[in-house]
Amino acid sequence: MKPSNSAVTSGISTPIPFIAAANYAQAGAWVNALQAAMPAERIVAFDAMSDEDKLACQVAIVANPNPADLQQLPQLEWIHSVWAGVERLVVDLGDTHLKIVRLVDPQLANTMAEAVLAWTLYLHRDMPAYAKQQAQQIWQALDYVRPQQRRISLLGLGALGEAAAVSLLRAGFQVAGWSRHRKAIDGVNCFAGADELPVMLAQTDILVCLLPLTPDTRSLLNASTLAALPKGASLINFARGAIINDADLHAALDSGHLAHVVLDVFEVEPLPVSQWQWQHPSVTLLPHCSAPTDRQTASQIVAGNILRYRQSGVLPLTIDVQRGY
Ligand code: NAP
Repeated sequence: MKPSNSAVTSGISTPIPFIAAANYAQAGAWVNALQAAMPAERIVAFDAMSDEDKLACQVAIVANPNPADLQQLPQLEWIHSVWAGVERLVVDLGDTHLKIVRLVDPQLANTMAEAVLAWTLYLHRDMPAYAKQQAQQIWQALDYVRPQQRRISLLGLGALGEAAAVSLLRAGFQVAGWSRHRKAIDGVNCFAGADELPVMLAQTDILVCLLPLTPDTRSLLNASTLAALPKGASLINFARGAIINDADLHAALDSGHLAHVVLDVFEVEPLPVSQWQWQHPSVTLLPHCSAPTDRQTASQIVAGNILRYRQSGVLPLTIDVQRGY
């Protein structure tokens, strides 16, 4: 798609708004970082846009924007999210003509791979069990398991899942992964499609969820899929809370079918204090911190994508709104 505004071709770029949720405290810092990454552009906070700016702008950079703000931009063609996950944006925008680009940043993938490795090692080296022993003043070494004997399976082999797989392989683990289309990643046992999910789950000691939340993945981890894991398996969810059916997870932990779960994401965040996960002895709870966007590297990625669009009219890869990711 070519930029349609003649101002672009004549070298005078239309302004690019940064549009975030009304209560978002980091908006000013984003405007500064994005402006520094693309000095030839004019980055403006949505509130600071003139009526003329609003009429002219074709591309916006967004962080969970209010859809009503986007509707004030009649020429808007595409939006670039500064988050990797765009599930909320897809739902908020509904049936939209806008093209949506999400953040794909190697730094973010590295950060997530580090988190997956850290919390896999936490489970692999029995840290939850040792914490319980310490609380009861029990001095007892548990049997050592080599990483080569531990089977880690990834749900999702996208930008984040593939980086996580590589770091787990380097640490010596047996690694499997599941996606919609079969992947070919050296050293990873790749499964694909709904039929092969139970096969992979049956061969899993630690399951790591890195799927997007879509109509297909909502409640994917439920009584039936959790039952397909071997007794004593553990789970890490770094993707989205609603991929897990909470009541079924609670039952699987209470029955001892699952040994432990590390949860970073929840359907409602912050997790309300009344929720069972806060107190459950087999839950390690994190405040959605596994892979924060790095404002500096993300701004460079966004700037590169916008610069290419300005020069060639070619949009970066956009998400498939129907598919949900
Ligand atoms: P991505 O590159 O789009 O990869 C998604 C992967 O999931 C792909 O391998 C895809 O399969 C697979 N998948 C999607 N639907 C599926 C289905 N129905 N059955 C089987 N496989 C399916 O996404 P990403 O960049 O890796 O990010 C994944 C998610 O991580 C984001 O959507 C976000 O929710 C979450 N996230 C969390 C944090 C955090 O701090 N906790 C930070 C960033 C992102 P195909 O390859 O076959 O399409």
